[in-house]
Amino acid sequence: MITIKSDREIELLRKAGHIVYETHQYLKPYIKAGITTKELDALGEAFIRKQGALPSFKGYEGFPNALCISVNEEVVHGIPGDYVLKEGDIVSIDIGACYHGYHGDSAWSYAVGEVSSDVQALLKNTEQALYEGLKAIHEGVHIGDIGEAVESYATQHHLGVVKELVGHGVGTNVHEDPDVPNYGTRGTGPKLKKGMVLAVEPMLTLGSPEIFIDSENGWTIITDDNQASAHFEHTVVVTEDGCEILTGE
Ligand code: MG
Ligand code: MG
Repeated sequence: MITIKSDREIELLRKAGHIVYETHQYLKPYIKAGITTKELDALGEAFIRKQGALPSFKGYEGFPNALCISVNEEVVHGIPGDYVLKEGDIVSIDIGACYHGYHGDSAWSYAVGEVSSDVQALLKNTEQALYEGLKAIHEGVHIGDIGEAVESYATQHHLGVVKELVGHGVGTNVHEDPDVPNYGTRGTGPKLKKGMVLAVEPMLTLGSPEIFIDSENGWTIITDDNQASAHFEHTVVVTEDGCEILTGE
């Protein structure tokens, strides 16, 4: 069931989203060669809790940490650990925060120092693919309009679209209906209404879009060809003539 959020709920979602945004800003200066992903996770978790929120992903279906931190060929659901970031890596940090029962969800991929020109293009174009998806949103269009916008931008820039993982509704659960695929056809899927809250989250790859799940931890999604992947995500509320980003400034 797709729910329409009241003004009171949107205000709480705005607050949760802002905490997620602030957590990304707080972590940015720490994203450097030499730090471990578990140190980033601990910093992020402490910051979220200091804002009076809870980390949405900790314990979600048994996920062990506060943040999902995915490096290079890891697409999403990376588990923070002893890996030490090094120059040339890209690191995708997915942050969820729950404030008074309402969630915000936003992922961003960051370069660690200097990265190759291919990886720079992957980062820039995946971020832009997110904004192309958001530009397609307003009351009355369909979920497929978002997917088509993301997919056509990705394809034009020769990037792979991971299809097994999709965006979603956000509210009192971090993952709600509807699914928001990064591919699709205009005019298909559920119709958007004012007050729906969605997480749009392209996951694009430099090479093949095929993926597998790390059998050791049962969580981490990795590209089949071990080429790099990027992930950019905002939570937004649908408005009459567009959308408002809840996980932005
Ligand atoms: Mg996320
Ligand atoms: Mg999400």
